Amino acid sequence: MSDKKIIVIGSCNTDMVIKADRLPVPGETVIGGTFFMNPGGKGANQAVAAARLGGKVSFISKTGNDVFGKQSVELYNSEGINTNYIFSDDDRPSGIALITVDSHGENCIVVASGANASLSPADIESARKEIESGDIVLMQLEIPIETVEYAAELANKNNIKVILNPAPARALSDKLLKSTYIITPNESEAEILSGIKVKDPESAKKAAKVINGKGANIVVITLGAKGSLILENGEYHFVDACKVNAIDTTAAGDTFSGTLCVGLSEGKSIIESVKMATNACALAVTRMGAQSSIPYRKEL
Ligand code: ADP
Repeated sequence: MSDKKIIVIGSCNTDMVIKADRLPVPGETVIGGTFFMNPGGKGANQAVAAARLGGKVSFISKTGNDVFGKQSVELYNSEGINTNYIFSDDDRPSGIALITVDSHGENCIVVASGANASLSPADIESARKEIESGDIVLMQLEIPIETVEYAAELANKNNIKVILNPAPARALSDKLLKSTYIITPNESEAEILSGIKVKDPESAKKAAKVINGKGANIVVITLGAKGSLILENGEYHFVDACKVNAIDTTAAGDTFSGTLCVGLSEGKSIIESVKMATNACALAVTRMGAQSSIPYRKEL
C-alpha cells in the first residue's frame, strides 16, 4: 500500500435496490422484481473503491443516529477505511437511495439525502488536521456545494490535489473548477458543465476543452461502454473500455474515480491511472449492486 493518503469527502447512503425486467414509466407498477439492500452513496462507494483497490483512505461523511448509519460505519471499518471523521446527526436520518435496475443494467435512482445534507464547512474544520495530512482529496456533489467548495479551498491552500467527480450533474462555479486538479464527469455531467452535447470521443474533446478553459486542470470524461477521454496539458488521449457483458452499471463512475485516485497515489501517470480505473470498472459492471460490485486489487 502506498503511504499517500486519500481523503474522500462525501455522501453515505443505504441503497435499496430492485432488479426488474424494465423500468416503470410514471404511474406504472412493475411486478416481478427481486430486492436487496446494500450500502451506497457516491462518497462511500468511492471510499470503498479506493480502499479495495489498495489505497490508504480516510472517509469524511455524516450519517443519522440510526441503524443504517451504524451499519455503514461498521462496514467501512471492516474495509480498512479510517471512519473517525464520519459525523453523526441526531436530527436527520441516514441517507437512503431507492434504485431500480432493468435487464440491460440501466438504472433509475431517487435519493433522500438525510444527514448528508448537513455535512457542513464546520465539519470540514473539525476534520482539518486529517485533511491536511492527506495527499489527495476526492469529492462528489451529494453533499452541500458550500462544503465541497470549502474543502477544495482548504486542500488548495495545503497543496493537496483535488479530484472532483461532478455527480450528480449540476453547474459549478469557476472558482471550484479552478481549484480542481482532475475532474471526472460522465457524458451528461460533461454536457451540463460545457454546454456541449457529449455522445462520442469527438464531442467529448470539445466539452473537455471548454471545462478545461473554465479552470479544471485535467479533464477525464467517462463515456460508459465507449471508454474515457483525457485532456491533459493540451493533449487528448483516449482509453477504450473493456468489452464485457454489463449487467448493472451502478457505481461504475464511483469505481472509476476511487481507482483513479489509487493509481495517482502510487505515482502512476494519469493515463496509467485511467487504464487501471477502466479495468476495475470492467469487473464492477458485470456484478449487481453498488459496493457489492466493486472489485479488490487482487482481481485486476
Ligand atoms: P457513470 O457511472 O458515472 O455514468 P460511466 O457509465 O461513464 O460512469 O462509466 C465509467 C467507466 O466504467 C467507463 O469509462 C468505462 O471504463 C466503464 N464502463 C461503464 N459501462 C461499461 C460497459 N457497459 N462496458 C464496459 N465498461 C463500462
